[in-house]
Amino acid sequence: MSKRDYYEILGVSKNASEAEIKKAYRQMALKYHPDKNPGDKAAEDKFKEAAEAYEILSNPEKKGRYDQFGHSAGGNGGFGGQGMNMEDIFSQFGDIFGGGNPFESFFGGGGRGGRRAVNRGSNLRIKVKMTLEEIAKGTEKKIKVNKLVGCGTCSGTGAQAGQQSFATCSTCNGSGQVRRVQNSFLGQMQTITTCPSCSGEGQTITSKCKTCSGSGVQQGEEVISIQIPPGVAEGMQLSVSGKGNAAERGGIPGDLLIVIEETPHAALQRDGDHLIHDLYISFVDATLGTSIEVPTLEGKAKIKIDPGTQAGKVLRLKGKGVPALNSYNRGDLLVNVNVWTPQQLSTEEKKMLEKLRESENFKPNPGKGDKGFFERMKEYFN
Ligand SMILES: [Zn+2]
Ligand SMILES: [Zn+2]
Repeated sequence: MSKRDYYEILGVSKNASEAEIKKAYRQMALKYHPDKNPGDKAAEDKFKEAAEAYEILSNPEKKGRYDQFGHSAGGNGGFGGQGMNMEDIFSQFGDIFGGGNPFESFFGGGGRGGRRAVNRGSNLRIKVKMTLEEIAKGTEKKIKVNKLVGCGTCSGTGAQAGQQSFATCSTCNGSGQVRRVQNSFLGQMQTITTCPSCSGEGQTITSKCKTCSGSGVQQGEEVISIQIPPGVAEGMQLSVSGKGNAAERGGIPGDLLIVIEETPHAALQRDGDHLIHDLYISFVDATLGTSIEVPTLEGKAKIKIDPGTQAGKVLRLKGKGVPALNSYNRGDLLVNVNVWTPQQLSTEEKKMLEKLRESENFKPNPGKGDKGFFERMKEYFN
């Protein structure tokens, strides 16, 4: 297995100083960081490769062996090999920006195995309004989000460019933690807490970026496009990883949480994956039968009203409801038939109806052509 030369990987010469190697790795890690190259396998490989090269070249002993024997000098303690996983690197990466590092401190050389803090950006929560039509099809939403973004001036480091801007924290000697010995009733107690001077980062910025005052972040906005799958519902929350607030000094950004807000539909009521439409027809149409249009999420659909249709009948339009989330199933559209009873009549209309009142056909005859309320409810909710 042939491996690229570690110096070549970092783009430094063989007699590069410790500081030059550090700087070169930092640039590489920034460039190929997975957060900046989501889903890019090549970038991830480069990121790992650089971390491995840095692990060796930043350690005088390993570097000496490597200089003498090249890659074949793995041996005891190894040359990283395939051994570095992303988690290792992340803790190492964090350190470049002031987070924890199991290997060695980047800017101070002080790391003594303490666990230093990795900054995390906070999550952002935004509401996204969706119509039932959009929910049925799924949709892409482009949303302008006001949030903390990495500072453009210092690339998120918080330090002023072109200067020796970082120093090992003198309070904790770069470990990010301080020990306190307290006398108590029980004798001496030792507690380890996050260093108050550097907030656990292990280093302080001596020359702060003027744009962001050393935080590495600034208020900004980002247009984020989100693919929302069909079938979401009111109150559902989708999480877009890494799109929340940027973390101070290049830590791990928070997530963007999308909360779905369903815009009520004028004519369709949602019940799970089913839709309900309340239809009103005249008693003449109910008696003689007719063909009538009802709204669906894909425009109007014509349905047939049979002669002698009773009020409360439920007509089911299969598959005209809302798609189930992550499924090919789709709910139905239930049309609830109401029969409109006239509330005002002309004298002439009154006379006509008075005549009909006497007809046997106009006397209620439940059970014939009518399932009754309880049967209808069962049908409704299955
Ligand atoms: Zn400190
Ligand atoms: Zn800045």
